[in-house]
Amino acid sequence: MISTKKLATSSVVFNSYMNAYVPHKVHISLWQDEFTKTEPLVFVGELVKEGQVIASDSRKICQIHSPVPGIVENFSVITLPNGKTGPCLTIKTGGSFSFLGKPRKKQKWDFLFPDQLIRNIGEKGVINTFYKSKPLAIDLMQQKLRKENRSIFLRLFDLDPTNQTDSFVAKTYTPQILEAMVILAHIIQPSAVYCLYDKSMNLQEDAAAMNTLFNTVPLHFIPVDILKYPRGGTFDLIQLVKRSVKSVENITISRKDLFIDSVTALSVYEAIVLELPSMTRFVSVCGEAMAENKLFKVRIGTPIKNLLAECGGFCAQPSKIIMNGCIYGSAVNNFDTPITKYTKSITILRKKMFDYIPISPCIRCGNCRKICVADLQPDKIFTYHMKKNQFTQTEIQMTLLCSECRLCNMVCPSRLPLFQTISEIKKNAELRYED
Ligand code: SF4
Ligand code: SF4
Repeated sequence: MISTKKLATSSVVFNSYMNAYVPHKVHISLWQDEFTKTEPLVFVGELVKEGQVIASDSRKICQIHSPVPGIVENFSVITLPNGKTGPCLTIKTGGSFSFLGKPRKKQKWDFLFPDQLIRNIGEKGVINTFYKSKPLAIDLMQQKLRKENRSIFLRLFDLDPTNQTDSFVAKTYTPQILEAMVILAHIIQPSAVYCLYDKSMNLQEDAAAMNTLFNTVPLHFIPVDILKYPRGGTFDLIQLVKRSVKSVENITISRKDLFIDSVTALSVYEAIVLELPSMTRFVSVCGEAMAENKLFKVRIGTPIKNLLAECGGFCAQPSKIIMNGCIYGSAVNNFDTPITKYTKSITILRKKMFDYIPISPCIRCGNCRKICVADLQPDKIFTYHMKKNQFTQTEIQMTLLCSECRLCNMVCPSRLPLFQTISEIKKNAELRYED
């Protein structure tokens, strides 16, 4: 475990946000999460309203709504925030807004059956951005099918310490997020709920109010020192809960439980309590090349160049655009890349910040072994894999311990893709050893 001060090269703490300008055109990716590919339900030249369903998968578990009123201009292929390219539709903004600037009334939801709530979450297009983004409705359906005890883990801070979006949302919308937890508990009837929060947050009042709402489900608030890394992966949260909650031996917790972050919880609140489709995101823009760092509430489909312009442009020559954090994110090379539902941050690195270092053979420095939080030997696994050597069953099972923290990659002077290799072996091992 290391101090995040060494990692957070571009992390900025935000205490407020601004609404980004409504763009003149939005480019809506038809792949708003890592798993679902939707089909368009509109045609070129069609007039659409703000909030209208414009694309959907066949099961309606993750619908996409137009974030602006306007006219569908064309279909094309565009660079996405995860570095891939995918289909998108462009809408030219025009006409009156159905949701923007109009206050929403809180709706009663406690008379709804769990299945209806799951359907509403899917129809409002809520995705779970805890780790790899996917429709939350799928997670909820899977939880309902599980026969054993299930728990909910809520992470109120960022997985990647170079991001600040989840922490900001947690501090700004605490009551809404906690109400979302009551909704999720109503849906999946968990044996326990664990809220893991930045220990600098003051949650006492909210925690007391929540304990009365959760009268039958044990609710645990667990403070976390987020200045240490890694802290926010499933493996880390399970370890933190096991260390903090004495009664946990009686309740089985596992990676199959429901894990959500602050941003997802806020989307649940908006979808169920405000009946608001998922059309906006909180996105931070920062980095050494930026004239100003800002946190925006922005419509999905907004090109990132619009946000960079609203920050006053660059103050130094930019060299890389990193989406979603310097540790877990991806580099993109296109300023037209649109904001998607899984976008949390944009970091612009300046040219001088790093030199290109090519991949070279392992020099046996041992850094990866020293830093590995799971006590693995990433160099050995990598070399074995490259030489196509046979792994023993024990060695394959060992990779299941990898917490996917990526620290081995960061400390490797040879820039070897250690995490990527272990993750690939782990994926196969999971298929083989987990039911
Ligand atoms: S192998 Fe790498 S990614 Fe996996 S736990 Fe060890 S340091 Fe982290
Ligand atoms: S950190 Fe990189 S160079 Fe050093 S032992 Fe591990 S794999 Fe080899």
